[in-house]
Amino acid sequence: MKDQILKKIYTIFSDWSSNKKVACRKGCAVCCTENVTITALEGEIILRFILEMNMEQWFAEKLQKSSGHQRPKMSTNDFARACLQEREVDFGKVSSQASCPFLEDDICRIYPARPFGCRMMISETTCTADNPALVPDHYFSAATAVAQIIEHLGQKEYWGNMLDVLPALCDISEYKAIARHLSTTMIMQARMRTLTAKPLPGFLFTEEEERTVSPLLQTIFNAEIEGKRIEDILNGN
Ligand code: SF4
Repeated sequence: MKDQILKKIYTIFSDWSSNKKVACRKGCAVCCTENVTITALEGEIILRFILEMNMEQWFAEKLQKSSGHQRPKMSTNDFARACLQEREVDFGKVSSQASCPFLEDDICRIYPARPFGCRMMISETTCTADNPALVPDHYFSAATAVAQIIEHLGQKEYWGNMLDVLPALCDISEYKAIARHLSTTMIMQARMRTLTAKPLPGFLFTEEEERTVSPLLQTIFNAEIEGKRIEDILNGN
């Protein structure tokens, strides 16, 4: 059921953002770096896609080539909790400029299975290495809130850099066809680099942002999966 909720959230967010003015085009990949964070739930969607497409060896080679990616210091919900409690926080420097290993000829090879961190990325102007994405404030607040909901959905499981969560998940027998192309040491080290997804502590909106973002969040919370509202499922009811 968590998979169904995640895919519903992807669809609702995509519908909500479809009328935004963006400069993003196929083949534009400046924002495809090694900095994407994901939950285990999103990682499993990618791993199943790799198995379906018989891309195990290619995928393992790509994972092995990436070694300099950053490990975030805290998850988005940990950061939000610290802010809401007015604690000093150091979110960590997450700024590798290296390209995502799944990018080939400026095309994402796992596009249908890409995680929310990739789906949410837009820019109002064409990006270059010197001119990063221009993301409207209200859009960034909405995307962060949705990322928090997705982390809540995946709570108690892995959360972290995509390039750590993916090999860490290869410990699961379902993905042994991928794991056999990776070393045990790599999988163990990846597990140690992951963090744990946390429950939603609340959102970090200003009042003005809340007015803009609330309709999107209400659409997500009121959507139904197998006759139950997503908000009720997320609350464990
Ligand atoms: S997974 Fe695909 S969309 Fe996401 S950063 Fe990598 S290449 Fe880009």
